Amino acid sequence: MVTGTHDWEYVTYAPRGETCAACLRPVQQLDPVRRATVEHQPGRPQAVYRHAGTCPLPQVAPA
Ligand SMILES: [Zn+2]
Repeated sequence: MVTGTHDWEYVTYAPRGETCAACLRPVQQLDPVRRATVEHQPGRPQAVYRHAGTCPLPQVAPA
């Protein structure tokens, strides 16, 4: 069970100008990403993206 992190949904392509939530680098348009939503405000989920393939920086493994 993951707590305090995003629930990654499916692999897709990010809109132009999005950044990877893991490495904070700009996502290239041809890079597959994993999409998630996070609710900063109730009822207003915001999409976030993370590299689905190789992420340039190592990530902290979820506990
Ligand atoms: Zn990344």
